[in-house]
Order: sequence, then C-alpha cells, then structure tokens
Amino acid sequence: MADATATQHPPIAQAHLPAKVFEELEIVKDPANLFHQTIEQVLIAAQLVGLAHHQQIILAQPHNEIMVHFPVLMDDGHHDLFKGYRVQHNNALGPYKGGIRYHPDVHLDHIKALAVLMTMKCSLVRIPFGGGKGGVKCNPRDLSRDELMRVTRRFCSAISNQIGPDYDIPAPDVGTNAQIMAWFADTYAQMTPEHERHDTLRIVTGKPVVMGGSLGRDKATGQGMVNVFKEMLPELGIDIDKMSFSLIGFGNVGGWTGRLLVELGASLRAVLDHTGAIHNDQGINPNALADHVSQTGGVGGFNEAEAISEQEFYGVPVDVFIPAALEQMITSRRAKLINARVLAEAANAPTTPEGDAVLTQRGIEILPAILCNAGGVTVSYFEWVQNRSAMYWTAEEVDHRLNIHMVLAARRVKLARVKYECDMRTASYCAALERIGKVYDLRGVFP
Ligand code: NAD
Repeated sequence: MADATATQHPPIAQAHLPAKVFEELEIVKDPANLFHQTIEQVLIAAQLVGLAHHQQIILAQPHNEIMVHFPVLMDDGHHDLFKGYRVQHNNALGPYKGGIRYHPDVHLDHIKALAVLMTMKCSLVRIPFGGGKGGVKCNPRDLSRDELMRVTRRFCSAISNQIGPDYDIPAPDVGTNAQIMAWFADTYAQMTPEHERHDTLRIVTGKPVVMGGSLGRDKATGQGMVNVFKEMLPELGIDIDKMSFSLIGFGNVGGWTGRLLVELGASLRAVLDHTGAIHNDQGINPNALADHVSQTGGVGGFNEAEAISEQEFYGVPVDVFIPAALEQMITSRRAKLINARVLAEAANAPTTPEGDAVLTQRGIEILPAILCNAGGVTVSYFEWVQNRSAMYWTAEEVDHRLNIHMVLAARRVKLARVKYECDMRTASYCAALERIGKVYDLRGVFP
C-alpha cells in the first residue's frame, strides 16, 4: 500500500475499477446481491486508499465458506434437517469474529456479506480480530426452548472442528441471545479434551454474565451508537438532549439505543417492527415499550402510542432515523419517504445502494453501520480478554474503554472523509482498509 500521507486522490473514473476484480474472480455481478454490493463498496474504498491489487483480490472473497446440514429431534418425535453456515472472511488482524444468526432468510451470500462487514468493523475500531459470520436457516419463534437448545448443540458440534477460542469466535446476532451462547459454550466444552476445558468459555462472546459474560455486553451496541452520536451529531447541528428519533426494530440494538437516548433527553417518536408501527408525538416511553415487547413479542398493540401504517412510519418527521432491524430495508421507495436529517445505521447493511443514492441526493447524512454498531463486537472483545485473563471489569470500566474505541473510530472516519473526499460510508471502509493494508504489507503473503 502507498504511504498514506503521500496518497493522491485518484480520479473519480477509478470507481469503475471494482469490475476488474469481479471479472478476475469470475463473479457475475448481481446488483441485488448483498455480498456483491458490499464487496463493490469495499473495493471502491480500496482504490481510494491505494490498496495493493493482490490485497483487493484477497478481500473480495472469504477465506472459508462452511456449510453444514444436521438433523434435530423435534418435540413431536420427528427429525428435521437444518442448514447452517460459518463464513470466515479474513484473519489478517486476528481470529475470525462474528455473530450467529437464526432466521428463515439466512443464506450463504448474505452471511458472506456480513462476514466482510465484520472484517471492516473490527479493523475500524482497532480490535485484534478478523471477520466471520454464521447462521442457521430456521425461525426461532417457531421452535420450543428444547428444540432451540438441540438446534444450537447440533450446530455447534457440526462446526466445532472449524472454530476455536483463538481461531474463530462466534457471538449472538438476530434471533440468538445469551442463553444460546451458554448452550453453545457448554457443547463446545463437552467436545474439548478435559485438560483444556477450563479455557473453552472463550469460544463465544455474549454469554450470560454469571458464566463469563462481560458487564455491559447487553447494551454495548446501543451504548456504542450513543458514543458515536455524541462525537458526530453536534457537527451536524443536532443536540442529543433535544433530538427526536425513530427506530426500526426494538430488539437488543433498537431497544437499548432507544432507552439510552431517551435517558439523555432525546424523544422517541415512532417505532416499526415485525408486528406493526407505532407513533406518539409527545414521545414514547422506551421502558414501558420494552416491557410490552417482552410480554407480547413486538411493539404492535402498545397502548401508549397510536398504531400507524408502515408508509406513515417512514414519513414521521425526526432528526435521526435509526434502522436497527434487518438488512436492505431502506430501499429507494422508503428512502424517498424518510423525513429526517440523519440516518444512523444500527443494523448491518440496512440501506440498499439505490436507497443510499436517494438519501444522499436528498441531503440526508448517513452514519455507516461499521462505525455505528461496532460497540457490540468491541465489548465482545473485552469479554474475550476478561475470559483470557480471568480478571473481570466493572461496568464503568467497560463503558469507559468502549467510549475510547468508539470516539477514536468516529474521528478516523471524519479524517478519512476529508482525506479521501468521499461520503461517510466510503470513509469508514477507507479507515478500516488503511490498517489491513499496512498489516498485509508487513506480513506479506505466505510463502
Ligand atoms: P434482535 O433479534 O434482538 O431484534 C431484531 C428486531 O428486528 C426485532 O425488533 C424485530 O421485530 C425486528 N424485525 C424483524 N423483522 C422485521 C421486519 N420485517 N420489519 C421490521 N422489523 C423487523 O436483533 P438485534 O441483535 O437487535 O440486531 C439488529 C441488527 O443489528 C441486525 O442487523 C444485527 O446484525 C445488527 N447488530 C447487532 C449487534 C448485537 O450486538 N446484537 C451488534 C451489531 C450489529
């Protein structure tokens, strides 16, 4: 990679260059494919930072794509066959790291895209991990607790020889939680020789606190969002203590982001999830909403707000619009409806390239996912460090260290934006790639 200080801004025409890498790797670009979209965006940034060609080729494909099929005994006595994935994208900076998702729409290219984003995210926040992601194609809402446990144990056993506490470390994601991590860790321990068992907890992060989890992991992604907001929003003319916001998703990330922002004085005006959309111009109480969601499974039917249509939800005027649910929800049609000054991506890849173009053209600033939601993996790293040292930190210490990582990452993005004269998303990839490129330059490629 060229010396960063000496890098010239390449002409815009170079933006078409990712096509060459696609051609070389025989990838036939499908504009609707999330993996192709993600790689293209990363390669555009790679051109800007002057990343060596062989490094671009390496990053354009995952190291390993593992696909497994495993039978599980269901409560009624029959067996179902499940499909699971683990994608290990890159480990130049450290062990592969990334969540495990349980969702009916899980498929290989989706997991590949999310694994790429993990590589970028870990590099951006300067934690010593690479990127990975996994998932099981299932609907956890349709499974009993016992079935969920058996799916988790069989999935863990199916990939157990391909992961490890210093090699590939899963975590929770959509549809998985601390209980699932507990079953996963226990299964891995049972499959590990007895003399190594004491150290097997590190196989996953996001565990319950009583079995090696970190204080502050639950709220970490939401807390990281708030830390980024404090660094970025004042420069965009928004005061957190006076701002209004809306949320797609009120699960782990949306729920915590909502509660933490309201604690600081912000007003939550509207929420959409898989059960419906709600709105209250006087502000929604996020604690009451969290109780409602834990009792009923979703925001629909919450009686301290009015039910609105999806179309109305997108049009609610707010300062900051926060998608915190699934990928690719902000299409161009929805981007045209959004009535906000800033869109802050709490979910991974929530905005389609077409949606991105509409928002940009409308002057809505996008704070990119690899910056905004990096708090989760950062505290996962803290959990792994605490497990390794067997010394546990206070909640205050976790918060303090998280804030340092998030603020510095936000500043890196702002600097890259000026240096490379690009949008915030490209800048976040540039800041991540600068580090990966330097490490590859130093390590070289074996042999
Ligand atoms: P979760 O399972 O706790 O919550 C998901 C939310 O999305 C729920 O509120 C659900 O109702 C909503 N949702 C599902 N389908 C929907 C639909 N069709 N329309 C509207 N809402 C819908 O998941 P989470 O952990 O909060 O993750 C949310 C996003 O944040 C994902 O993109 C995930 O990859 C990302 N993320 C999570 C973490 C973490 O620490 N949990 C860290 C980084 C990024």
